[in-house]
Amino acid sequence: HQNPKSDIEISQAAVKRPILDVAKERLGIAAENLDPYGHYKAKVSMDYVKSLKDKKNGKLILVTAISPTPAGEGKTTTTVGLTDALNHIGKKAMLCLREPSLGPSFGMKGGAAGGGYAQVIPMEDINLHFTGDFHAITSAHNLLSALIDNHIYWGNALGIDSRRVAWRRVIDMNDRALREIVCSLGGVANGYPREAGFDITVASEVMAIFCLAKDLDDLKERLGNIIVAYTRDRKPIRAKDLNANGAMTALLKEAIAPNLVQTLEGTPAFIHGGPFANIAHGCNSVVATTTALKLADYVVTEAGFGADLGAEKFIDIKCRKAGIAPDCVVVVATIRALKMHGGVKKEDLKKEDLKALEAGMSNLKRHIENIQKFGLPAVVSINRFSADTDAEIALVKDKCKSLGVEALMADHWAMGGEGAADVAKAVVKVIDEKKGALQPLYPDDMPLFEKVRTIAKEIYRADDATADKSVKDQLKAWEDMGFGKLPVCIAKTQYSFSTNPDAKGAPTGFNIPVREVRLSAGAEFIVAICGEIMTMPGLPKVPSADSIDVNAEGKIVGLF
Ligand code: ADP
Ligand code: MG
Repeated sequence: HQNPKSDIEISQAAVKRPILDVAKERLGIAAENLDPYGHYKAKVSMDYVKSLKDKKNGKLILVTAISPTPAGEGKTTTTVGLTDALNHIGKKAMLCLREPSLGPSFGMKGGAAGGGYAQVIPMEDINLHFTGDFHAITSAHNLLSALIDNHIYWGNALGIDSRRVAWRRVIDMNDRALREIVCSLGGVANGYPREAGFDITVASEVMAIFCLAKDLDDLKERLGNIIVAYTRDRKPIRAKDLNANGAMTALLKEAIAPNLVQTLEGTPAFIHGGPFANIAHGCNSVVATTTALKLADYVVTEAGFGADLGAEKFIDIKCRKAGIAPDCVVVVATIRALKMHGGVKKEDLKKEDLKALEAGMSNLKRHIENIQKFGLPAVVSINRFSADTDAEIALVKDKCKSLGVEALMADHWAMGGEGAADVAKAVVKVIDEKKGALQPLYPDDMPLFEKVRTIAKEIYRADDATADKSVKDQLKAWEDMGFGKLPVCIAKTQYSFSTNPDAKGAPTGFNIPVREVRLSAGAEFIVAICGEIMTMPGLPKVPSADSIDVNAEGKIVGLF
């Protein structure tokens, strides 16, 4: 189980098929319905997307994971490997993933195109610029920012309180120097100086809207509903009050069409949209997922972070809005990560440790129970690492069996789709048995704070959710304004069920304190912030940019 080559070396050595052939042979899409971006990437035209409306939907498989640890889990790798595996066992499957952001690409998270022999290609394109969607989203966001300051400059007819401009600027880069800035400096000709700042593009509400919009009309309407500022008497000013949403939609018109690429094994993949998983819902666009469901019998997609955050938001925000539901949930775990949940340090992970593994299973167990609470069947996919021992594997399988779910080894990272065939077969079997019927965790008309409390108690297993009066008053005010039916999006650490990132495993006896709430009126959810949330990350001391280069043959090297 050792790959002698790096991810980018495997990707660059792959024989790529022209994307027009992949589209035609694997999905039956004719060339005239595609907008190729070079030979290996293409957008599927929105007219074609619309023409699929009355076709039957395929089955939806959600890939999620245990609470992340520094040992690594491999959700994206599993999403790619499982889809290749479904095709390997004779099914017609495709996958949907998020688009990577340049911030983490040059920072430290690593690529977002899978790894080893389970990758989407061309990985350097996907990780860098791709089809320009993020540039379009950045431009649409910053157009609105410019229109706000311009409106104030030309007399401020709407009475915007320049101290209460909520709309910041964005750039797709980890750049801590831009977190807090003062803009409009330099005298009368440059407007009124005010404090402002930048977020990373993936944290933009435009990104969240882009990923939840059903089509261009829905996109335009939601963009118009964004609250950008308040007047001195706290009246909200929306993007449509500035007449901004038409021009923003013009910038996004091409971007909204899903991007088609392929895996190393020629499996079709949509890679489209990429919102933050903390202050937003963390999954690829609704347009991509709903289109894929028309094109393939099985669609595999990934939700960010662990299942407490990613799967919960996928179900309670994305599925609720898009009217879709997973038929099966695959929970990714690694023996290494489970041992870390059981207290083993990263440097000791190579040693067999059944006691720690058993203790760490508490984390997987709770995630499985949560999936079952949603009424959905789960399959556990153990992403194989070279140091995993037979005894450790047997322990995880036995324990999962006692929880009523099957756990299977997946070796797609080393072997490609063939390596995950057992997981694919188990997933197909579970779907054929039709055991699942999605039950959202809370009804639309539950009061907003009760929604937070329900997630805290049912999913995180907190004793309660707590908040100051000011937070509760704010939620009440939004309910009075008509926002009470929105779902809530919890922003908290992904490393623990609690708000303490060091509390691994399955902690109990804690509360979830809501520090702050934000209204995403265009994306249509309420964000409950529980802990420190960074919307403009910084680069580490030695960023991955340090090792990325272009060699003498003009090839990109060192990108993971
Ligand atoms: P996630 O989506 O959960 O963040 P990824 O699938 O992107 O995780 O994987 C993160 C990194 O771990 C990738 O660089 C990938 O190559 C590596 N990786 C994944 N699975 C394995 C494995 N079985 N053995 C070794 N490395 C792996
Ligand atoms: Mg991932």
